[in-house]
Amino acid sequence: MSALPSSIHSTSALPKVAWAKGSYLTDVSGKQYIDGSGGPAVYCIGHANTEVNDAIKAQLDRIAHGYRYNFTTDALEELTDIIRKLCGGTLNCMIYVTGGSEAVESCLKLALQYHAARGEMSRRRFIARNRSWHGNTLGALSVSGFLERTRAFEGSLLDVSRLSPANDYRPIGSPNGEACAQELEDEILRLGADKVAAFIFEPVVGAAGGCVPAPAGYAKLIRDICTKYDVLMIADEVMCGAGRCGTWRALEADGVEPDIMSVAKGLAGGYMPLGVAIYNDRVAEPIMRVHGAPMTGHTFTGHTASCAAGVAVQKIVIRENLLAKVRANEPRLRSMIAEALTGVEAVGDIRGRGHFIATELVADSKTKKPFDASHKLFMHIRQRALENGLICYPVGGNVDGVNGDVVILAPPYNSTDAELTEMVDKMAMSIKQVLAAKGLG
Ligand code: PLP
Repeated sequence: MSALPSSIHSTSALPKVAWAKGSYLTDVSGKQYIDGSGGPAVYCIGHANTEVNDAIKAQLDRIAHGYRYNFTTDALEELTDIIRKLCGGTLNCMIYVTGGSEAVESCLKLALQYHAARGEMSRRRFIARNRSWHGNTLGALSVSGFLERTRAFEGSLLDVSRLSPANDYRPIGSPNGEACAQELEDEILRLGADKVAAFIFEPVVGAAGGCVPAPAGYAKLIRDICTKYDVLMIADEVMCGAGRCGTWRALEADGVEPDIMSVAKGLAGGYMPLGVAIYNDRVAEPIMRVHGAPMTGHTFTGHTASCAAGVAVQKIVIRENLLAKVRANEPRLRSMIAEALTGVEAVGDIRGRGHFIATELVADSKTKKPFDASHKLFMHIRQRALENGLICYPVGGNVDGVNGDVVILAPPYNSTDAELTEMVDKMAMSIKQVLAAKGLG
């Protein structure tokens, strides 16, 4: 049998990271990178924070992991307390997991269990949206509307209804929010409300759309529709939540509380793997009354050292008033990007919230026609940015699942003004260099 081609080892071309501090990472050759998107919007307080590391070490010295069926722990209880306060309202119950996909998976199962506990076993169907990303496990993948990532698994995915994305830059119908919300009601009625378990959506779409906030009014409309038909509303805030958009819950800015939500990336800021499915009292009541507990969870659910990391990160976010800083930085970040890209005709849209801002590149800014996917523009920008010493998050396929190029900046919440300027300048330089090299700019 012939050896596998070396290209199959997809990490072979990557630099090897050695260490990091604050907003900077250094590879083994000594080259430095500024962290303009902590992975996919993960490292919200920067790297190697001694307070967080000390908290994790202290927890490891006491006990790494108290297994959930045997023990509760200080770290888990403290984190639950903190999240309840940060969420406000009736989002009081948590299932801790190790990341975003597990969090989404737990949300889906909670919705099914809620209906089962109420004797409504016919409510099995999920409604989701196109241009969305909910994760890589089969359930989370099933509700994801991201053709490039789901195509290889078609045939083994759940049968999910998919609605249009709600995107002010690429509106469907008019006005956008209302038309998209109407699609939800129409689909519930088409299926029969007694068949529908939940509607899942990203309040600010991340990788699949490029920082696309819900149009004004949309979230309230879908909240009302979900309530009207007893369809649960699941907000996937894995990427946009935990303060990334300037409020701890992204949907807080829309004045809406979901029934169930997923949070991950920024929860423990990348210091330990941690995610959470959060559900409200209304969902908890029949589950606890009829089944006694949620029928989901894993060996590492509520992992103690991960919860300790979450506590330490969230304490810093609160003590240093970082959400106010993120909110205040938003208009500056947008105008810095617009200024740095002045005269670049390919700039179609600059959008997002808080420290979650995307620049969409298009072949024609009047018609909003994307560049052909064959250019692989976003991949070249990622590579050029790395060469220029910037980690940003370029993604492709935001227009139709295949075509489209967006560059996301998601800096740590505590980045300095000088660091933000460096990130924006390096991103603009990388975009311009790639467009010029391809004869597109
Ligand atoms: N949901 C959203 C909105 C995400 O952006 C992601 C990951 O990017 C996930 C779920 C899956 O999270 P994870 O990669 O931690 O499993």
